[in-house]
Amino acid sequence: MQQFDFIIIGTGAGGGTLAHQLAPSGKRILILERGDFLPKEKENWDPIAVAQGRYKTTELWRDRNQQLFSPYQHYWVGGNTKMYGGALLRLREQDFEARPHFDGVSPAWPLKYADFAPWYDQAEALYAVHGTRGQDPTEPPADTDYPFPALPFEPRMETLATQIRQQGYHPSAIPLAIRLPEDAQGSVTDRINMELYDGYPDPTGAKADSHVVGIQGALQHPNVSLLTNRKALKINTDSSGKRVESVTVTHNGTEETYFADTIVVACGAVNSAALLLNSANEQHPNGLANSSGLVGRNLMVHNNGIVLAYSATPNPSKFQKAILIADFYHGAPDSLYPLGSIQNMGKADPLLLIDAVGDDMDTNGRDMDHFAGHIVDFFITAEDLPQPENRVLVDETGEIQVHYTANNLEAYQRLHAKLVQIMDQVAEQEGVGESTKYYGFKLGSGGVSHQNGTCRFGTDPKESVLDLHCKAHDLDNLYVVDTSFFPSSGAVNPSLTAMANALRVGAHLLEN
Ligand SMILES: Cc1cc2nc3c(=O)[nH]c(=O)nc-3n(C[C@H](O)[C@H](O)[C@H](O)COP(=O)(O)OP(=O)(O)OC[C@H]3O[C@@H](n4cnc5c(N)ncnc54)[C@H](O)[C@@H]3O)c2cc1C
Repeated sequence: MQQFDFIIIGTGAGGGTLAHQLAPSGKRILILERGDFLPKEKENWDPIAVAQGRYKTTELWRDRNQQLFSPYQHYWVGGNTKMYGGALLRLREQDFEARPHFDGVSPAWPLKYADFAPWYDQAEALYAVHGTRGQDPTEPPADTDYPFPALPFEPRMETLATQIRQQGYHPSAIPLAIRLPEDAQGSVTDRINMELYDGYPDPTGAKADSHVVGIQGALQHPNVSLLTNRKALKINTDSSGKRVESVTVTHNGTEETYFADTIVVACGAVNSAALLLNSANEQHPNGLANSSGLVGRNLMVHNNGIVLAYSATPNPSKFQKAILIADFYHGAPDSLYPLGSIQNMGKADPLLLIDAVGDDMDTNGRDMDHFAGHIVDFFITAEDLPQPENRVLVDETGEIQVHYTANNLEAYQRLHAKLVQIMDQVAEQEGVGESTKYYGFKLGSGGVSHQNGTCRFGTDPKESVLDLHCKAHDLDNLYVVDTSFFPSSGAVNPSLTAMANALRVGAHLLEN
């Protein structure tokens, strides 16, 4: 039997980054990942293949009404970051404080922005974030500049940013994780296919995801090994029940068990909770780390939606993931409470637009290529609040149930209205005869890509699952290092906070 110092389960934003942080220590580290390496193949950049779910899990989860649904989840080395858009934003200082919202109060974090700031610096450096500080008034203070300047906007996006600025708002460049040779940006962005950056795997490895940055970096060290196609089924405790000692996985239909001094769960907020619940034993009848009864509870996913703004002005941009509008993050003159963030997203493919806009479409006989060549695509994010009844459960066979009912929808609707107001005004500024039309939808039950909160951290073992170092209150050597630890979700994309936290916890693990 081989004994490892650390086992890390999962290779996404949390697990991949932690592996990178621990690797140089020389400690014996085993990484267990349920997925395989995502194949490099022509379908990586095939919008139809990707939209048909080529890289998505076929696993189905059940909702509150026992209905099966297909979660937008990707099980590969690198986890969901293989598909992510690489928008790496810091939470705002106010996100760490208790804040009133339309539907209640979002709780304070036990640590504050200042505690995370140095780790955000390091995470931005590790993931080669390209951005410009000082454009966005809601941006939290930072001691360092972004590691690299923002990618230049394409002409249509530059014009749009200027028009939005003329309306009195503060569009800024979305901070983006991308590994570019700095002397060849133009040609490299062409080669990378920036049109298919957001929501697609990147076979060139330029997208700074947790596979190419975290895991590949960690595997440079001979003390680190990775086993793929190992789904963790159960974490086992020793006879005292105070320590975990091993992980049982399934591999090609057989069970294997691996032993370590410290075990870190980083399976993503839903799967981490499910694994802890499935690890119930005599000493921990309600699941591991669950004396509070909070494992799986307070699931948040954000109120996310896609808005396609069509106008008569052509938008030939290839790389459209450009503009962030955070002016409504803390509210608006007509909104006392926070609304959220508006970002561009990758450009919708004409073929996929048929599905996206469906019967709502009034294209006046124009074809989809025309339509796609005139829309600007946006992703809007409003905060959802942690509620105990929004939770992950497992059934008697270990399968996942996700009970989630959206809340704080007023913020989402008002944010949507703000975007419409801005883009209507843009049409006025441009003097285009045809008024702007809007298509899109709010993400439904499968839209769990921003999942977080199922094992919140805190100081009180009755009110939280993890302590301030993300160690389970109930166990001496079990950690959870992914988006599960969030006490609240803010309204920015979650990965950078998971990465920064992984670096923070990693430093603690090495000190101890
Ligand atoms: C299309 C898309 C676009 C996105 N864009 C952005 C963006 O621009 N910016 C941003 O910040 N976020 C974005 N996200 C969200 C981001 O990907 C996640 O927030 C982030 O990956 C979460 O990190 P994590 O470590 O918590 O979990 P994950 O990245 O999901 O990693 C969990 C890992 O654990 C593995 N695993 C799960 N269960 C088990 C098990 N039982 N045993 C072994 N291994 C297991 C999984 O295979 C996976 O590798 C996007 C997501 C998607 C899907």
